[in-house]
Amino acid sequence: MSSPDLSGAERREVEATLRAAGIPDPDLQAVLAILDGPSLSMGPKVPAFERLFCEYTGSRHAIAVNSGTAGLHLCVRAAGVGPGDFVLTTPFSFVASTNVILFEQAVPIFVDVDPQTGNLDPALAAEAARDLAAGGEKARRWLPRQGAGEPRPIKAVLPVDVFGQPADLDAMRQIADEYGVRLIEDACEALGSEYKGCKAGTLGDYGVFAFYPNKQITTGEGGLIVTSDDEAAAFMRALRNQGRAPGDTWLQHTHLGYNYRMDEMSAALGIAQMARAEELLAKRERVAAWYDERLAEIPQVERYRIRPETTRMSWFVYVVKFDPSVDRDALAQKLEARGIPVRPYFAPIHLQPYMVERFGYRPGDFPVTEDLGRRGLALPFSGVMSEAMVEQVCRALVEALSG
Ligand SMILES: *Cc1c(COP(=O)(O)O)cnc(C)c1O
Repeated sequence: MSSPDLSGAERREVEATLRAAGIPDPDLQAVLAILDGPSLSMGPKVPAFERLFCEYTGSRHAIAVNSGTAGLHLCVRAAGVGPGDFVLTTPFSFVASTNVILFEQAVPIFVDVDPQTGNLDPALAAEAARDLAAGGEKARRWLPRQGAGEPRPIKAVLPVDVFGQPADLDAMRQIADEYGVRLIEDACEALGSEYKGCKAGTLGDYGVFAFYPNKQITTGEGGLIVTSDDEAAAFMRALRNQGRAPGDTWLQHTHLGYNYRMDEMSAALGIAQMARAEELLAKRERVAAWYDERLAEIPQVERYRIRPETTRMSWFVYVVKFDPSVDRDALAQKLEARGIPVRPYFAPIHLQPYMVERFGYRPGDFPVTEDLGRRGLALPFSGVMSEAMVEQVCRALVEALSG
């Protein structure tokens, strides 16, 4: 996989693109050096990036892939989830955490979330797991209206660290252990967060990070799995590389695999970004603190609660909930008109058209998720925002709220 020579114009175009994305000079040079070098893929940068993550998380293995979704999918395969299996998960998330279950023709078992954090409600999750294992009529309330088959025990648990805040991972661990199944932590929004002093991503059997440009660190497109399970790590490495097991040649494929490999440019950017991870997280934390301070004075705005178990919060997005009396969509339009980009967050997964079609979900099925989805708005948020910019957003918000 040798690198083509870049013309001066191509090189300038890459530089211009990266600069426009807010990528600083050292990161840019790291990417350009790959473009000048011998390998664009399957070179030394991906393993170096993986080693950094082993150090950062203390996990035995790190497996870099080309998206967070790809990482989650490999975890679902490693957990042995297959057609018709049940996976306990949340409807209040980005769709990828559910889609990876559907990729294997398995069935997501949704339970509603804690209104204060947006994370899976641990009591409901435990109840659902218990009822499903017991079978019978009680179990049916957890099943979608169609496409689920008969009640049976869950095959995996897949909580999401919503907006960067770790889910109640002790409770999730307990459920997974009770049924002898894998815990997959979707930490795609939570790089750097800590739960009771442990890094997010390390509390499940497998944890997944994502590096799309809006995440805490970016590789362009990219993701990474951490695990301390040797066997699962070897399996996921093989699946990432078209199913080639150790010892397989280029055209030998022990498993049904994928091309989920991360390329060398992405890994080089990731390495440069990880060198500045603390700085990047601190900048985001500072912006969140400015928002916290100003928004506390606006009565129609409610903030998500950071639980004491979250011993470090790493902010992915800054989402607020408005008082039910506020017309959220009209407010969003007013803010957009003032040049403030905002986004409803999250749109409940169970009400996406393909989910309704396949499983027969209806409005009202997960009332807390739907309420949070209806009242929530992600405010402009990134580490490069100044205090004046936060002030400007909050002033526009106050004006929009008052008429
Ligand atoms: C970003 C994200 C992912 C992964 O997204 P990719 O775009 O595939 O990298 C998965 N789950 C959640 C909750 C996310 O926010």
